[in-house]
Amino acid sequence: MIDKTKSHYEVLVIGAGVAGIYQIKLLADLGVDATVLDAAGDLGGTWYRNRYPGARFDSESYTYGFSFSKELLNEWHWKERFSSQPENLRYLNYVADKFDLRKYMQFNCKVDAMRFDEANDLWRLKIADGRELTCRFVVMAVGLLSIPTPPRFKGMDQFKGRSFHTFYWPQAPVEMAGKKVAVIGTGATGIQVIGEIADKVAELTVFQRRPNWSAPLNNGPISDAEMADIRSRYDEIFATCSRTPGGFEHEPDRRGFYEVSPEERQALWDRLYDTPGFAIWLRNFREIFTDEKANAEFSEYVANRIRRRVKDQAVAEKLIPRDHGFGVQRVPMETHYFEAFNRDNVHLVDITETPIVEVTETGLRTTERDYDFDIIVYATGFTR
Ligand SMILES: Cc1cc2nc3c(=O)[nH]c(=O)nc-3n(C[C@H](O)[C@H](O)[C@H](O)COP(=O)(O)OP(=O)(O)OC[C@H]3O[C@@H](n4cnc5c(N)ncnc54)[C@H](O)[C@@H]3O)c2cc1C
Repeated sequence: MIDKTKSHYEVLVIGAGVAGIYQIKLLADLGVDATVLDAAGDLGGTWYRNRYPGARFDSESYTYGFSFSKELLNEWHWKERFSSQPENLRYLNYVADKFDLRKYMQFNCKVDAMRFDEANDLWRLKIADGRELTCRFVVMAVGLLSIPTPPRFKGMDQFKGRSFHTFYWPQAPVEMAGKKVAVIGTGATGIQVIGEIADKVAELTVFQRRPNWSAPLNNGPISDAEMADIRSRYDEIFATCSRTPGGFEHEPDRRGFYEVSPEERQALWDRLYDTPGFAIWLRNFREIFTDEKANAEFSEYVANRIRRRVKDQAVAEKLIPRDHGFGVQRVPMETHYFEAFNRDNVHLVDITETPIVEVTETGLRTTERDYDFDIIVYATGFTR
């Protein structure tokens, strides 16, 4: 039980996401007097927020989990190759409970300000609940995607339906069936939401400013036998992740792009397109990132895959990025995203052609027309 009258600690950790959980585990093991402060109502950070439909890893689940305890690695069964938000949050709670870490955590404790007190050689933190806490060391585990960016449309507070940024998706289930839904944004989050809800809502209108390159996640279940195999290879898996850029399981194809024939390049890309996760991005030829011609050839390959998947070629062309090549920005992974646009109930609005003017009481107004919605989803990402 946290003693809220205690005002000095050796270490204060700000944030109870994956990083903060690991920090407090290490500090507790060392016997250091420490506490974790988090603005949210419970632990999990990214996975406590972001409860939108389709929210899931694009890291292989078993590479994302903590590696510090063999016992934990042997106990936890990842059920899907790319596990979803509810399961990820269950995992983080399981870890906190297994190692009895909750007793070090304080929630609904936003740190509003901190300054170093030179005279007394300590940090002074102002907490939103009015307390001032002091400590010798502060560990910032505040996350890289923990400040959402809502759009700044005129009239957003007038809308009489429901609207939310994906980061603040409600904890109680949101009824989507029979609803007219707008999704604004086609980044990593929008792409996950759209693929997930397209066949569950009455009408889905996607407002796109600029398309992103995206490729199939190729998710699937992990059977008991597969999980046993993964457990037996954890050391090898983590060793691979420790030497790859970004810590993923995928290593680049070390053949030179121009050393192999166009047919061999195409054969590799055909395989990678069907391989789970970031393989298409990170198991590719290294020249994809360094040579504009190589990147253009591969981008054209992916564009053609999109053209094959989307029936209306005018829509397909709108979904193909023109302002950057594949993989030079973070690649959102998708599940049935492009097929969603083949459905009669899904519509794409290019807001470079018809910009959004304002949010109205009943929906959205673009320069072309008014749209009525029951739900507006702001999939507009984060501030870094
Ligand atoms: C939808 C989504 C999917 C993702 N998928 C992947 C993936 O597949 N693979 C991958 O590697 N990464 C992924 N990420 C990135 C993800 O953010 C990291 O993997 C990881 O969860 C970050 O953990 P963290 O502990 O550093 O930060 P967070 O999980 O963001 O936690 C930070 C915590 O700090 C708290 N905090 C911040 N400021 C304050 C303050 N002033 N006072 C008190 N508390 C504060 C927040 O409330 C939050 O709980 C994804 C991110 C998102 C949004």
